Amino acid sequence: TLDFHPTGRHFLQIPGPSPVPDRILRAMSLPTIDHRGPEFGQLGLKVLGGIQQIFKTKHPVAIYPASGTGAWEAALANTLSPGDKVLMYETGHFASLWNKMALRLGVVPEFLAYAGKDEHLPHAPGWRRGVQPDLIEDRLRKDTAREIKAVCVVHNETSTGVTSDIAAVRKAIDAAGHPALLMVDTISGLASADFRHDEWGVDVTVSGSQKGLMLPPGISFNALSPRALEANKTAKLPRAFWAWDEIVEMNKDGYWPYTPNTNLLYGLSEALDMILGEGLDNVFARHQRWAAGVRSAVNAWGLPIQCADPSVYSPVLTGVITPEGVDADAVRRLIHSRFDLSLGTGLGKLKGRMFRMGHLGDSNDLTLVAMVAGVEMGLKLSGVKLAGSGVQAAMDHFASHPAGGALRQ
Ligand code: PLP
Repeated sequence: TLDFHPTGRHFLQIPGPSPVPDRILRAMSLPTIDHRGPEFGQLGLKVLGGIQQIFKTKHPVAIYPASGTGAWEAALANTLSPGDKVLMYETGHFASLWNKMALRLGVVPEFLAYAGKDEHLPHAPGWRRGVQPDLIEDRLRKDTAREIKAVCVVHNETSTGVTSDIAAVRKAIDAAGHPALLMVDTISGLASADFRHDEWGVDVTVSGSQKGLMLPPGISFNALSPRALEANKTAKLPRAFWAWDEIVEMNKDGYWPYTPNTNLLYGLSEALDMILGEGLDNVFARHQRWAAGVRSAVNAWGLPIQCADPSVYSPVLTGVITPEGVDADAVRRLIHSRFDLSLGTGLGKLKGRMFRMGHLGDSNDLTLVAMVAGVEMGLKLSGVKLAGSGVQAAMDHFASHPAGGALRQ
């Protein structure tokens, strides 16, 4: 049974959905308007223009009234034909789910994985590291018949807290001289971690509303490239609701071929004002600073961070591996019931072995210190021996690293 917490705000520290700022909640509470009327067209044009700035693209971005999974499907269904080969890379649970979806849709995915060893998680070494571009380059070089139609990778693997180098993946594809499309899932990276759709040569970027954009779940995105739009013309997988052509055409005037998610678009409009007003570089620096503060706590506890490679630590979330024999889900449940704090569970191969702390959305230094305090109390109550105080380390980190950019309005 859960304790009842009648007062104070719940600590939503999962890596998405993230806490939604009051300003966005208020914006979404406005009356729903006619989605074919003149006011709506203005809203549509504003959010479509703003979201291009977030993806850093000059090309169309399709917005779907769907969760991220829908936008995954849209990316594949709009560009591929039955039996097409695609190269995917196993960074964790979300890469695995996208791979499973590709199989269900009737394309033929090949799943590349890191083959090295890992002392803490020998059964899932690749789930502690980013994409290795040389593996992609080698595989593409061997594909002399050019049968592989797309390379699909996850930018910020939410199940592990590892952020892969997408520019390096593009370089690997180019170095192999291969024409495959590059599709990237940045569902949990967008608007928290640096991302550049055009500059990095991404053909389809998939994202969602409920993470860095600080919105509730319910809308998702496909950012497109001219090559993706070209592939769309000959791709034969069935699609109707997801089809880009009608959406891109109607979006030119700020409308959609179906009833869009009006109130979430009010929220998106507000989120764009907040994020672009702060400046994307400031937003990225803020998340990097938060992540470093949270990692200093984990290091002080003496527990391993899920991401084994410091060069690809996620600015969005930090995974913590619990000592052998300590069920990470039991720790999470205790923390939830005692302190009204939600943490992310260990997904797929990581079940019971780790938990995830989110540092995104409507947050600040003190929110994160409080999260660390809740986790520290929970670990101690679970009998985990800690090397030192994470709370003290996080306080020291935030106090000695003043925030750089304009923070909040
Ligand atoms: N990809 C990543 C990296 C995710 O983090 C998630 C959700 O957390 C998804 C895909 C699936 O998105 P959704 O749950 O919104 O359908």
